[in-house]
Amino acid sequence: MTAQLIDGAALALEKINQLKQSVTKLQARGVTPGLATVLVGDDPASRIYIRNKARACAQAGVNSIHHDVPASATEREVLDLVTRLNNERAVHGIIVQLPLPRHLDAQRLSQAIAVEKDVDGFNWLNLGALVEGAPGITPCTPRAAMAMLDHAHVPIEGRHAVVVGRSTIVGKPAALLLIARGATVTVCNSRTPDLGAVTRQADILIVATGKAHLITRGMVKPGAAVIDVGINRLASGKLAGDVAFDEVKDVAGWITPVPGGVGPMTVAMLVENTVDAAARSAT
Ligand code: NDP
Repeated sequence: MTAQLIDGAALALEKINQLKQSVTKLQARGVTPGLATVLVGDDPASRIYIRNKARACAQAGVNSIHHDVPASATEREVLDLVTRLNNERAVHGIIVQLPLPRHLDAQRLSQAIAVEKDVDGFNWLNLGALVEGAPGITPCTPRAAMAMLDHAHVPIEGRHAVVVGRSTIVGKPAALLLIARGATVTVCNSRTPDLGAVTRQADILIVATGKAHLITRGMVKPGAAVIDVGINRLASGKLAGDVAFDEVKDVAGWITPVPGGVGPMTVAMLVENTVDAAARSAT
């Protein structure tokens, strides 16, 4: 392996320990940050994500309050719960875990979360702030990707960054954060002809497609920083990223593993967004 491994699990632990100190200071001012999590239905992967989020909150001293909602709930019922949480003083952050059952409109529910409690950063006001470079809450996964690049001291300004994937929760905000830092950014999608020709130009390659092992060795520029956001369950039951780690690690300059990469750091960023929201509510 020639690439330097960016260990998301270790970095997340470090972050959570720092946040614990911020929480202690907030508690001295009478505020304990609170995160409300809402799970509609019983998707097993979602339940694991919720459990990981609750564990990270507990480690940082953040209260997490979980709400299980039956899959049969109407949109009105979920909206009523969100409205109640919007009005609860002890709740500083709210997440509605995705994906949602088909009869619920994820966009409408995300937009119902109060902008100051939108710790996933999906509210259009927060996304608009990101476009403008104004203060707001930034989506956790792109924040995690940037934090990992910074931790590894990967130069960003003036470099060519390629983002593979254009979702609103990962690809687009990641591109905006890179633009804000002075990178030249290319965003690819499933229609991009000759993806490898584009990714081979990347000094920084962020991949968020949900396609296991899409990025192979020949698609990576030697020395590039490769951030693998993908989480895919293989037929064997093992987790894999969107990057063929075993071969790309020999050509990249830096690489994140899956599991143990962007995933745990994303959770740490969620806790940080919650602590920051609590701090803002206390001023
Ligand atoms: P989406 O399905 O919303 O978006 C996937 C994007 O990838 C789309 O823009 C799609 O293009 C593009 N894409 C798909 N196939 C290809 C291809 N062959 N070549 C180029 N682009 C392609 O997914 P998300 O952004 O929500 O998530 C992406 C991955 O990241 C998933 O594996 C998800 O589980 C993971 N994830 C991990 C998180 C973490 O904490 N580590 C958090 C969030 C997501 P098009 O728009 O044309 O369809």
